Amino acid sequence: MSGPRTYLDYNATAPLRPEAKAAICAALEHVGNASSVHGEGRKARDIIETAREQVAALVNAKPSEVVFTGGATEANNWALRAGWSAVFVAAFEHESVLAAGEASDARRVPIPVGATGSADLAACDLTAAPNRSLLTLQMANNETGVRQDICAAAEWAHARGIAFHTDAAQTVGRIAIDFAALRADLMSLSGHKFGGPQGIGALVIRDGFELAPFLKGGGQERRRRAGTENAAAIAGLGAAAEAAAGDRSYEVRIVHLRNRLEAGVRKLTSSAIIIGSEGPRLPNTSCIAMPGRDAATLVIKLDLAGVAVGAGSACSSGKLGRSHILAAMGIAEAVAASAIRVSLGYGTTERDIDEFLAAWAQIHGRATTVASASAAQVRATPELETAGD
Ligand code: PMP
Repeated sequence: MSGPRTYLDYNATAPLRPEAKAAICAALEHVGNASSVHGEGRKARDIIETAREQVAALVNAKPSEVVFTGGATEANNWALRAGWSAVFVAAFEHESVLAAGEASDARRVPIPVGATGSADLAACDLTAAPNRSLLTLQMANNETGVRQDICAAAEWAHARGIAFHTDAAQTVGRIAIDFAALRADLMSLSGHKFGGPQGIGALVIRDGFELAPFLKGGGQERRRRAGTENAAAIAGLGAAAEAAAGDRSYEVRIVHLRNRLEAGVRKLTSSAIIIGSEGPRLPNTSCIAMPGRDAATLVIKLDLAGVAVGAGSACSSGKLGRSHILAAMGIAEAVAASAIRVSLGYGTTERDIDEFLAAWAQIHGRATTVASASAAQVRATPELETAGD
């Protein structure tokens, strides 16, 4: 497929921001271990501490509360595998939270999930909460964009002497987050979801909150996370954080584009169901089900038309299996099996929406008024003329 691609899979990973790329390249030019006392080491330390301030500013935390990790998966493992007696966890959490809970010795207490995808803390079995319990609740879901009431969850936990962790991998850098105000003890974030590089993230640990190191070894990150810091990736994460914080029109822009996309889908295919749209959602995510269709086939047809979207838990590469998230919401198997995830981001344009809708119209055998040159090419793609799976 020649011609420009339309990338609408930001929840899997976002394109690297130019600011992040520049910061990474500059840091790569520099030799130095941040633990060394000489000038080169001090310069590496400077790079890291500047990035720590940038990340802290993005989420209104103190720099001392930001501990760099190899991404949100590591941050989630650290938070969950910290010697808890019990962990309250909902079935819609990301695999890294669910698997870390399983790997820990903690008793897992399920949080019931409502039909709209929200956690029902009032229905939790509290007799199961011994000392040293943790409540983990994601800020927003990677497949549906459904947002949880994190402030209420923090209050619920603290009123019961339960520690509180939130996986904010899909929200940091996309919606305003005030770590100080939301009163979480622990918060995971991931650089590559908002234009930083892959393989870098952080666990934000409230000042004064006791958490033993997960990775043991050297004394890096004030003895909290061993291993020579990945200064270049950290620099990229910091620059992406600063760029995201400065992008004040993001939410308004993205919600407009997402609403246009959904309105277009509904007009072209009245049987489309937008999962999770009944409650609060991230502005960038649209989980679209087409009962009777097969999600994997839809993803491939869109791909052939030059449009990249996700299906199921497609965040884990190449996996097009059954979504545990949609199952947790009680979505019927036939509907879940047809659900694709379209996720927009900082670089998405009106043209991307035009391209998506042109491809969607073609695949579903509908006419569309979209008339850009490349959209016309999409309509001429022979593979797509087999509409009607
Ligand atoms: N939590 C959520 C909600 C995610 O979407 C992801 C990424 N798919 C992760 C955690 C893991 O993040 P990372 O890729 O940085 O390990």
